[in-house]
Amino acid sequence: MSPLELKIKLEDLLGKRIELLLKDNRSVFLRVKKGFFSFKITLHKVFLEAEEEELKALKEWIKKKSKTSQKHLKTFFTKHLVHRNYSHKINLATLKPIGQHYNLQEIYDDLNQLYFQSSLKLNITWRKAPVYRKYRRITFGSFSPALKLIRINSLLDNPKIPFYFVSFVVYHEILHYVYPIKILNGRKSAHFKAFKEAEKGFSEYQEAEAFRKQFKRGKSYGWT
Ligand SMILES: [Zn+2]
Repeated sequence: MSPLELKIKLEDLLGKRIELLLKDNRSVFLRVKKGFFSFKITLHKVFLEAEEEELKALKEWIKKKSKTSQKHLKTFFTKHLVHRNYSHKINLATLKPIGQHYNLQEIYDDLNQLYFQSSLKLNITWRKAPVYRKYRRITFGSFSPALKLIRINSLLDNPKIPFYFVSFVVYHEILHYVYPIKILNGRKSAHFKAFKEAEKGFSEYQEAEAFRKQFKRGKSYGWT
């Protein structure tokens, strides 16, 4: 629908005059300022694709801030954000794909060629390792669908970590692009069956899995 249609629909639902501002960035999802005569509502552009159900949830949230409506809206937002591309907003100069030991750009390029006919256009960088307290869960990598950006934990930029493992972690994050998050019964699902099957396609899958388990178990690397 057009911005005007959205405005009219919301005014009908809320019984209020509204001032509607539509944004297209990752941080603004929904903001409401209630005035006596009118509401000032800032929404992400994905709401132009909202169905009746979401508009009702929006009304519920604005009027009562109900938990159910909030959950509904978040699910809607996540589902739609996956398809938006904000990668042009990345400052490429801030990416650091070349580490002390491993060059992520090379690893990514090789995987892209070997498994995806060089069809992917993703960004990749090392991410500074957080300070870990003992036995905390370690996230090896992450993928931002909106930024098309893979971030790999600098803990892996270490000669004690085998090359195939770093490569496997990058491969895993690439798969998050190829198999986007699904919403099943209102819950996000990332590592679903097709994803896991694809993961097994990695040439050194067995070794990588074995290393991952050993890594999780042990303090053998002295990273506590
Ligand atoms: Zn994952």
